This record gives sequence, C-alpha cells and structure tokens, in this order.
Amino acid sequence: MTNEQIWQAVLGEIEIGLSRANFVTWFKDTFLSSFENDRVIICVPNAFVKKWLEEKYHKNILGALENVSKKPIQEIIYKIELRRGGQAPLATKSETKIETPIQTIKNDSSVSRESNGGSNRFGLNPRYVFENFIVGRGNELAHAACLAVAENLGKSYNPLFIYGGVGLGKTHLLQAIGGVVAKTSDKILYTTSEKFTNNYIQAVKTGKAKEFKNLYRNVDLLLVDDVQFMGGKDGTQEEFFHTFNELQQNDKQIVLTSDRPPKSLPAIEKRLISRFESGMVADIGKPDIETKIAILEKKSLEKNFPLDKEILSYIADHVQNNIRELEGALTKVIASHQFKGLSPSLKTVKEILNDYVSNIQLRSLTPKEIIETTAKFYNLNYKDLTGESRKKELVWPRQIAIFLIREELGTSYPAIGAELGGRDHTTAMHSYNKISQEIKELENKKIKQEVDSIRQLFTAAY
Ligand code: ADP
Ligand code: MG
Repeated sequence: MTNEQIWQAVLGEIEIGLSRANFVTWFKDTFLSSFENDRVIICVPNAFVKKWLEEKYHKNILGALENVSKKPIQEIIYKIELRRGGQAPLATKSETKIETPIQTIKNDSSVSRESNGGSNRFGLNPRYVFENFIVGRGNELAHAACLAVAENLGKSYNPLFIYGGVGLGKTHLLQAIGGVVAKTSDKILYTTSEKFTNNYIQAVKTGKAKEFKNLYRNVDLLLVDDVQFMGGKDGTQEEFFHTFNELQQNDKQIVLTSDRPPKSLPAIEKRLISRFESGMVADIGKPDIETKIAILEKKSLEKNFPLDKEILSYIADHVQNNIRELEGALTKVIASHQFKGLSPSLKTVKEILNDYVSNIQLRSLTPKEIIETTAKFYNLNYKDLTGESRKKELVWPRQIAIFLIREELGTSYPAIGAELGGRDHTTAMHSYNKISQEIKELENKKIKQEVDSIRQLFTAAY
C-alpha cells in the first residue's frame, strides 16, 4: 500500500465516527508523508489543526493506522506542512501566513479570563460572554473556533460559520466574540439575517441604499445570526454577497450562524454558499450529560440556589433537547421551591419537573421521528423502512431517511444503521453519499424538493 492509500483507508475509518463538519474541519488537507518502521509523520495544514489532532483525535488516528497497516506504531508526529502544489487549507488567503493561536484552544486563555465589561453596546447581551460559556463535548469545536477568531480578528478563519440546532449556544458564542472585540473596536455589527433583510428593503425604499452599504461595509466585525432566514430574497442576497466580499477581501471578520450546514440552506444562491464554506465551518451538537450538569451547577449557583449533584443529574438526565430548555427547567424548579418555601429534594424536584418534561419531550426531533415522517411522506410506515425488505420502492425512502438523520442530527453511521433496523454502517454511509451526491453535485431538483418538504414536515410537527 502507498502512503496515500493507507491514509485514505485511515480517513475512511475515522469519518465513520464523526459528524461531517468535524471530519472536514480536522482532516481536510491532511496527508501521510512518511511511514518508516514504527514511526509515522502526518502533515497538517496549520497549528490549530495540529493541536486539535494531538489532543482530541490522536487515539482514533493511532487505532485506525494500526488497523489499516496491521503494524504496531510507536510514534506519530504531526507536522505543519501543505501538500505540494496543493491548496491552502480551508482556503482563506490570510490563513497560511498567520501564527495560529494555539493557546486559544484552552478554555483558560486570556480571552476567557478577562472580564467583558458587561455592556450591551451593539445590541449584545452582556450575559453572552465566554466566561459564562461551559465547554464540553458538542460545543468544543465551535467554542475553540470562536475564541481563535476573537483573538485574531480577520486572520484565523474568515468567515467562521457555526451551525447547530436551536438552543445550543450559537447566539451566545457569536455575541461572545463581539464582547471581546468591543474592547478594542467600536466598528462591530450584530444582526440577524431577518434584520439585515428588513433594513435593506427599508433603505432601498427610502433612498438610503448607499448609507446602508457604507454602514455594513465599514466594520471590523460583522456578526450575522440565523442566516437560514436569508433564503429566497434575491436583492438582499445580492447585497449581502457584495458586503461579504468587500469585508473578506479587507480581512474584516465575518461570523455567521445557522441551524444547518451551508449546503443545506434553502434557497440560498450557490455563490453565497461557497462563500460561507470558504473559511471554517464548525458544528455545535447536543451537550453530553456532564456538560449539562456543569451548566446547571453554574446557573444554580448564579441564582443563589445551590442544588445537590443528585438533583442536578436528575434534571440533566430528563431535559434532553437543548440548553435553553435546561435553563427553563432549572428556573421552573427554583421558582416553584421559592414560591412554596420548600427546600429542594429529589422528590420535590421530580414532581415539579414531571409536567415540564413531558411537555417539552414532545418537541424533540429524534432519528425515529425522522424515519416516521419520511415514511409518511412516501405513504409508507415506520416498519417498512426499518424492515428487511429490499423492494425497490422502499430503497429510495430509506436512503432519504438516512440522509436526513445524518444532516439534521449529525448521527454517526453505525448509530444510523442501528436505527434503521440494524443495518450495517457501510449501508448508512453509502446511502448518505448517494443522496448527497444527487442533491449537491447532480443537482437533482426532484430529490431536493422531496427532502425539503420532509424537513418542513418535521419542523412543523416538533
Ligand atoms: P441558539 O442561538 O443556538 O439557539 P442560544 O445561544 O440562544 O442558542 O442559547 C440558549 C441559552 O442557553 C442561552 O441562555 C445561553 O446562554 C445558554 N447556553 C447555551 N450554551 C451554553 C453553554 N455551553 N454554557 C452556558 N450557557 C449556555
Ligand atoms: Mg440563536
């Protein structure tokens, strides 16, 4: 096997266990440059990736390398080097010349230690600062990227595109960048795509398009929240496209958030999507139980209402969807106890949470619900899609369900296979790739429309 073949096989193994955004962010532009005896050199595009692979993925890489090569490995060296004749990583022109801020990956970097001044200038919420943000699995990538950007404005990743489901901390992180930058610059704009759209339309109507342009193109930092709502409004997209280019060319930082990856944004022009992807794309996923407990603990202390670990675990365990709901549950627990003058015990907490939890549980989107909704869309039922039959009319909907689970929830391939009646992970991966190719490369309109319609069904239902 050549080094190239070995590395491709290793990447194949690693990809299975990761969300797409994570995989692309950390493994794009990596290669195996030498494999001698039991010593391996892996080249990576920059210090940020180097640090991350060393700290987070070393074990996976080692395991996969030993699997593929069938040899024990003593040492892996991660070296910063671009592939000859290759493209700069993640394709921002400024990136290669930058000393990537290795130290910012640490949660205790200077940015997070400094106090933020607490103002709500620029429409920023003073609570949304790095100091208040608990880092854990699910958000560490987005958090690290935001810190890197805040410390190295316009120079580390531009644009930075953060995506993930509701209530997971996107707005918090976005504004935290603003809070840091506000200490040294007053040219900061925080907006949502809806506000951008409305302001633009208004400006055109009142003959103030020029002022609008000047305002948006003259900032050091542009924060745009929820870009998924920009879809369809062509004049606005045109304006946004030019604003974007102008800022990017001048190394002015742009950070965007969305509830889905750039490629899945509905009705957004291709050229904008490729701009969105031209810096760094970082996903933010659901918090694991430890992160949820840590968040609850911090917030209960902030509210001067400390709770036992047992109670915190109970709440964390029963509120599944997102951090906003976790906060809501905690507020409810605290308020009820205060109101009734009770001291908290597991029993009282359980009673209070019962209603709350059963209400919000209904709104969670799970792989099962995606399968059900997809089945319904094609006039089939859940059992058809998870069953064994390989009838032609079932294959297609099954593949669509797999695609949607991966896109919406970022579920790993083995887990998707399990959801679909114990299918192999290669089946899940193949199905995802097939539909993804139909939509993204072959621009198959019919499939895209079907997928979008199903998406609408579950956003309506949950
Ligand atoms: P999104 O924009 O993704 O919908 P938000 O940023 O509005 O979510 O977050 C929802 C709530 O949860 C906010 O009050 C935010 O402060 C809080 N939150 C989210 N993630 C964290 C975290 N990691 N640590 C502390 N609070 C968090
Ligand atoms: Mg938000």
